Amino acid sequence: MALLRLDKYLADAGWGTRTRVKEIVKQGRVAVNDKVVKKADVKLDTDKDAVRVDGKEVSFSQFEYFMLHKPAGVVSATTDNRDKTVIELITENKRRDLFPVGRLDKDTEGLLLITNDGKLSNSLLAPGKHVDKKYFVRLEGTVTDETIKKFKEGLDIGDDKPTAPAILTLLNVDEGTSEAEIVITEGRYHQIKRMFEAVGMRVTYLKRLSMGSLCLDPELACGEYRRLTEDELKALRR
Ligand code: URA
Repeated sequence: MALLRLDKYLADAGWGTRTRVKEIVKQGRVAVNDKVVKKADVKLDTDKDAVRVDGKEVSFSQFEYFMLHKPAGVVSATTDNRDKTVIELITENKRRDLFPVGRLDKDTEGLLLITNDGKLSNSLLAPGKHVDKKYFVRLEGTVTDETIKKFKEGLDIGDDKPTAPAILTLLNVDEGTSEAEIVITEGRYHQIKRMFEAVGMRVTYLKRLSMGSLCLDPELACGEYRRLTEDELKALRR
């Protein structure tokens, strides 16, 4: 059971800011279990109590989970003065507490989990957890067995310690360009670009394919999103 103030409940359910929802409550537009309530600090049991605004049922869930196929050109932030953010792409949602789990660079595409569940986010990002992140990468340069070996051993990318072993799998080589998949377990700033720079190559395209058990849904076009399924959520929490 989770007890929540009515104004927080309505704000979280997307009815506006705390100030705005307080007004709505004062106006007598809100009913809890079919009784009009005019006090915004009334405590609700989120599992049991039914809330209506203007007679319309309020659907409430404490946590939201969206899988976004991030396009290039948007930033992995909640607000930004200049660029569009990944949160703005979740158009059906009116909640104010969503955030991306980790960051992809502005020019990186692919899987991004958007939620308001801080506990799940921490468990996926905790350095000690070593959650696998798999990417497709296109490169200027030719990946060789030697490159693969270096990635496996760990690379000096100018930080205080070398990178943890990364699994690099070559998919294609064509006239000085390569396509590959890479699995890393850390989340350092510009990590993959810096790893390839360290071996004299340049990343020209990067797309995240999976994070832990969560795989980018191939049905999602770039810029589209959907809610996680129960099974996806269960597997992520495991
Ligand atoms: N590594 C990078 O260099 N960029 C990303 O967006 C993700 C991993």
